[in-house]
Order: sequence, then structure tokens, then C-alpha cells
Amino acid sequence: METKDTLYIGGEWLSPSSDAVIEVVSPTTEQVIARVPEAAEGDVDRAVEAAKAALAGPFPQLTPAERADYLTRLSQAIAARSQELADTITAEMGSPSSWSLLGQVLSSTMVLDGWADLARTFPFEELRAGGMGPSLVRKEPVGVAAGIIPWNVPLFIIALKLGASLAAGAPMVLKPSPETPLDGYLLGEILDEIELPKGMVSILPAGREIGEYLVRHPGVDKVGFTGSTAAGRKVGAICGEMLKRCTLELGGKSAAIVLDDADLATSIPMLMPSALMNNGEACVAQTRILAPRSRYDEVVDAVAEAVRATVVGDPADPATTVGPLVAERQRGRVLGYIDKGRSEGAKLAVGGGRPAGLDTGWFVEPTLFVDVDNNMTIAQEEIFGPVLAVIPYDDESDAVRIANDSDYGLSGSVWSGDVERGLGVAKRVRTGTYGVNSFATLDVRNPFGGFKSSGVGRELGPEGLSAYLETKTIVLPGDYQPPA
Ligand code: NAD
Repeated sequence: METKDTLYIGGEWLSPSSDAVIEVVSPTTEQVIARVPEAAEGDVDRAVEAAKAALAGPFPQLTPAERADYLTRLSQAIAARSQELADTITAEMGSPSSWSLLGQVLSSTMVLDGWADLARTFPFEELRAGGMGPSLVRKEPVGVAAGIIPWNVPLFIIALKLGASLAAGAPMVLKPSPETPLDGYLLGEILDEIELPKGMVSILPAGREIGEYLVRHPGVDKVGFTGSTAAGRKVGAICGEMLKRCTLELGGKSAAIVLDDADLATSIPMLMPSALMNNGEACVAQTRILAPRSRYDEVVDAVAEAVRATVVGDPADPATTVGPLVAERQRGRVLGYIDKGRSEGAKLAVGGGRPAGLDTGWFVEPTLFVDVDNNMTIAQEEIFGPVLAVIPYDDESDAVRIANDSDYGLSGSVWSGDVERGLGVAKRVRTGTYGVNSFATLDVRNPFGGFKSSGVGRELGPEGLSAYLETKTIVLPGDYQPPA
């Protein structure tokens, strides 16, 4: 049993302002594995004050290359403790260890390396010709940023937001989910190791009330939120009312389109990780598999075989490919969707219940529904568990129509023997990231975000960095010459 009695506030380990406690419960054993302080309003106030002081301090004035050096050191320090971080995330939220080292931790270092490289090359200042003379167009830190983090890929989502924030020179107050506070404690130790200037980062695990208090805090200028679409709407409304800058990364219901010329022997094994990664608890999960009627049975057989081949069990066991869901309520939600699929007439091909022999832990069998109509609830709503649907289509246009018949637009893919044909489909699907014969559900160096109800704004790449910058135009005298 791990017990913590401090919070990481402005780069110091401080006693919390209340005696509220978060109990971290193992999704595998259902036992309490750690107790940590739950941040309260007073802690948010202290963190925001520290961030405001840091904004006026030396870090934002460093050259972009100096800020990039901190990001490189952060990436290296995370890599040095990667196994410990992966094991911690596996213990707190059930991500299989076969996936967590790469998908949870090393992916985070790849993101931070990308931010470091971008900071070294991004044009933070440009002398531009203006209507009356030259102007200096400067990109300055957006101010104090808040990063609201979900439990499914906690460190990776911290890397998306914190990397951008530090590259921009903006201090950040992070609020991890109450389900996954433990990786944040390791991150705090790592930030100490790299001697990041005080005040630049605070880490305040807490629930949604404190999240909302942070979002509303008058000292916070920018909110980077990742979570459900329902919570994102609330956060977006608060930011709109208070005219705060805001990036929203929300839910998804992405479609993988298997075209009639796809080689199923290679496509289906490549597609499956995108469908079931992280126990299906992934915003980018491609949970709708669209199959041509001409090859429908072949696709169903190949997907069913792959789903049957998954190994459900203790996420710490390297052989496991699907671990338990994060919480009992999440298992209830997923089982509820499986019931709904049955009652709306989808045909259950694999799974559909709790796995035999796993009576402890919040396990759900990897489940495949076939003969699914895209109007069914299981094809429209984000399930966030290992539940897939194969949906038949008539022709390519019908496949694009079905893929687009969704409130969401986060990820997706197309599988074809002809890359140009796949690219043609990719251009017609209304979604933020798309793969052509690729298992990658996002690119760690290029913009990531959603169309429609999957979000507002982008993370990663120059677009993502710009979301943590304000633009200032300094009008100069007509005869201004920059110093040689
Ligand atoms: P959630 O919306 O319940 O919570 C996400 C985070 O927001 C948590 O830290 C939570 O405490 C906080 N929060 C909730 N309501 C809030 C409010 N009103 N004000 C401020 N903070 C609030 O989501 P979750 O269950 O933790 O995560 C799963 C969801 O996240 C899924 O819908 C998934 O698709 C989405 N997600 C999206 C992405 C993406 O990049 N698009 C990535 C991962 C997860």
C-alpha cells in the first residue's frame, strides 16, 4: 500500500489544504493499492499563484532552444524510468503491460521529443512587411494554462499538453483524474530531477468539481481539456463565457473501412490494435469496422478470429492483451451497451459477457457484434471498452456515408490494395486523423484533434503549439532596421 501526504504545487511537495483522500483501487484485484491527497480549492489557488509568479519569472524569457533542452531532459528522464511508469499505469488503470510501455510511456517521450524539436525551429518572432512599415510579429506564452487529464492514457495526455505549454513558455497546472494519480507523483519526482524552474508545473489529482474550479479560476488563461464530450461541452461553455482560450479533445466512434481490394491477411491483424488497444479504452479506437457486402463473411471471419485470439487477464502478465476496465462503473456501462446491442438486433459473434474464471477484477470479454446497422446505439455511442461492430456497406460511397454518419470525427482508417484509392477515401471522411493502410491512430508530430463533437482545436505540430501562444504585433517605425 502506497501512501502519499503531499501534493506537487509549483514545484514543491506541500501539505494539502484539506484532509480529503483519494483511494486508488486496483481494477485487477479490486483492492485499495494507494492513498493520496485529493487536491482542494486552496491547492488550486496556491498552484495558480505559483504559476502566475513563474509566468513573470525566468522560464518564459529563456530562448526557445533553452526551453527545448528542458523538454529533451524531461523525455530522457521519463525514458530512464519507463518501466516503473508503465507498471504504475498498469496497476492504477489496467492497461496491459504488453501495451503500456510503448503506448503509455515511450509514446509520451516521442511526443516530448517532437515538442523539443518544434520549439527549436518554430518562428516565435518574425519581422513582416506591414501597411505602414515593418511589424514584429511575436508569439508569446498564452499565460497560465490548465491541463485536465483523463485516466485512460494519463502520461501521454500530460505529454501532449505539458510539452506544448513548456515549449511556449507557459506554466501549467495539471489535474489528473482521481483514478490515475500515481504516475503524476513519478512525474513530479522527474520534474525535480530535471530542475525545472519552480512554479512552472503543479500536479493536482482531484475529481470534476475541482476540475471545474480550476477551469473557472480567474488566474487561468487557457484550458487544455481531454475527456468525454459531455464534460467537454461544460468546460467549453465556461471558457466561452469567460473568454478563455480552450482546446477540447473529446470522444470518438471511429470507423475502419475495409475496401473490396484489401488484403485481409495483412489488413485485419494491423487494424486490430487500433480497435482494441488499451482494453478498448481509447478515444481513437476504431470500433466500427465497415466491410463490403461482397466480402462481408470473409471480414467477419478474420475479425472474429482476431478477437477470439485476444488473451484476457492480469494486465501485469506480459501474455495479456486485454486487461480489466478502469472501474466497476465502467464495466457496468460496457455491459449495458452489450445488452443494448442484443436488444436492438445486432448479432453477437464473440464474447458478450464476463470472462469465465475471472471473478475478481472488472473484466469484460472482448466482444464482436456483426450485422450491425449504423443507426444502432452500439454504432453511434462511444462504449470505451473492448466491443467492436462489423457493419456492411454496398459500395465506396456508402462506406464513406456510414463513416461520416456519426456525431464524432476523431480517427479512422481505410484498407486497400491501392494506396491512391485509399487516399481518395481518406479525403472524404470528416475526421481529424486518418490512416491509409496504417495502424497509427495519430502522428506524434502532426496535428491531432477532432471534427464535430470530437473536439475543438488541435494538439501536436505547429497548430498545437499555437494553441499555447498569443500573437502580438509590434508596429515599428517605417525606417526600422533590425540590429545586424
Ligand atoms: P471525463 O470527461 O469524465 O473526465 C476527464 C477529465 O475531466 C477528468 O480529469 C475529470 O475529473 C475532468 N472533468 C470532468 N468533468 C469536468 C468539468 N465539468 N470541469 C472540469 N473538469 C472536469 O472522461 P474520462 O472518463 O476520464 O475519460 C474518458 C473520455 O475521455 C472518453 O470519452 C474519451 O473518448 C475521452 N478521451 C479523449 C481523448 C482525445 O484526445 N480526444 C483522449 C483520451 C480520452
